[in-house]
Amino acid sequence: MRLADYNAKRNFGITSEPRGKVAASKAGALRYLIQKHAASHLHYDFRLELNGVLLSWAVPKGPSLDPADKRLAMHTEDHPVEYGNFEGTIPRGQYGGGTVMLWDTGMWTPLGDAQDAYKKGRLKFELHGKKLTGRWTLVRTRNAKYGGKAEAWLLIKEADQIATRGAAAKIVDSQPDSAVTGRSIDEIAAAKDREWHSNRSVSDNVEAGAIRVPKKMAASKARSPATVKSRAMASQDGGSKNVKNANVKIAGVKNAGD
Ligand code: MN
Repeated sequence: MRLADYNAKRNFGITSEPRGKVAASKAGALRYLIQKHAASHLHYDFRLELNGVLLSWAVPKGPSLDPADKRLAMHTEDHPVEYGNFEGTIPRGQYGGGTVMLWDTGMWTPLGDAQDAYKKGRLKFELHGKKLTGRWTLVRTRNAKYGGKAEAWLLIKEADQIATRGAAAKIVDSQPDSAVTGRSIDEIAAAKDREWHSNRSVSDNVEAGAIRVPKKMAASKARSPATVKSRAMASQDGGSKNVKNANVKIAGVKNAGD
């Protein structure tokens, strides 16, 4: 689903997830992340950067290290790359309302042509995350078992040295907390230290501190809050031109439940 669809699904007057726009990581480096999302139902938002956006799937049960576990992954709208840095809360009653945890972060390497594979509904790749590594497959299915819906995909661990079975495969149970802060969902919800305000632009959210400044940035010599803030904005938004572009008004349609 295109980023334009992500934008169309949000009511930016009331929701707290970011407004989408196209941005990209440094050349060749493709981000991977999973956001554990305690919304109306707990699920895991699996995201792969491609073409300057985060391709996204909602995985109700989360990933398993057992190749025999084919985990339903509902394809959802592309998300802006900035959102991949978000861990915090979204007000109840709004799009995605609840608590968001950065359950895993890292990079991914497509095996083969990612554009073509994505189009054909069969992505093979390697993950280089803090929790998930090794080879994985995302495959689109219209099997009636999964409702016959075009957006139903399966997330499958490929057989490799990382794959395992039994209790050891249940990594969502053995490693339930944030890969970035070590916090539990309850601790993130209680902290209320980060929140999206989507009646503002992504840039405004970043400036207001909705996401953490990347470590390499925080560790650099410029330490005054104003400087760190402006550098974060430059990094996340690619300059002031995009700040203006992000202010285009988009009518809300409905809650996509992501
Ligand atoms: Mn979600």
